[in-house]
Amino acid sequence: MSEKPWTPAWIGLGANLGSPERQVATAIITLAQVPGVKMLRRSRYWRSKAIGPQPQPDYCNAACAIETQLEPEALLNALLDLEDAAGRTRTQRWGPRVLDLDLLHMQGVLRATTRLTLPHPQISRRAFVLVPLAEVAPRLDIPGVGVVGERAADCDRSDLRLWLASAPPPAPATTADSIATPTSIPAPADGPTDGES
Ligand code: ADP
Ligand code: MG
Repeated sequence: MSEKPWTPAWIGLGANLGSPERQVATAIITLAQVPGVKMLRRSRYWRSKAIGPQPQPDYCNAACAIETQLEPEALLNALLDLEDAAGRTRTQRWGPRVLDLDLLHMQGVLRATTRLTLPHPQISRRAFVLVPLAEVAPRLDIPGVGVVGERAADCDRSDLRLWLASAPPPAPATTADSIATPTSIPAPADGPTDGES
């Protein structure tokens, strides 16, 4: 029997309760261990002002590029399970949360159901999604959004900065393998490479 195909997909991560950076890092490591998911690369961690009801702590945001054998709905379920495992509760729309995992785009997939919209409808409006995503997939062309690197260059970054002011600039990873091992994923300076292959 032939192996299921691997489809590129991109995930947006955010947290603004507890230890935001730790929850984001843990989510990336845990997602890398989900059967049918290969972690390819991740962005640096960014700090953004919360949208929605105020006051709220700043968010830690990141994005990662994966390949998956899961169907889109199964991947969404895996993301929602990780949110639950982190202790996510849902009370207020856009309220503070310990972990938010959004499936931003899956290559070749369009969905408009009550459970899943793909591409994610808020990508264009959000610097905290576009800027990290551009670090892992600058040339990715998302239907209805455009080329991620171009959109990120144009977007309003006034409420966005690096999570750690001292974070070094990203350097290109030499190979996808160099950032595919879970132990190397948490390092803060994995570089941007294209995630569109
Ligand atoms: P938001 O991320 O907009 O703040 P939530 O994290 O509370 O909202 O998600 C609410 C619901 O959004 C989820 O239960 C999920 O079914 C739905 N949803 C629809 N499309 C997506 C997507 N592309 N990624 C993640 N969740 C999605
Ligand atoms: Mg969400």
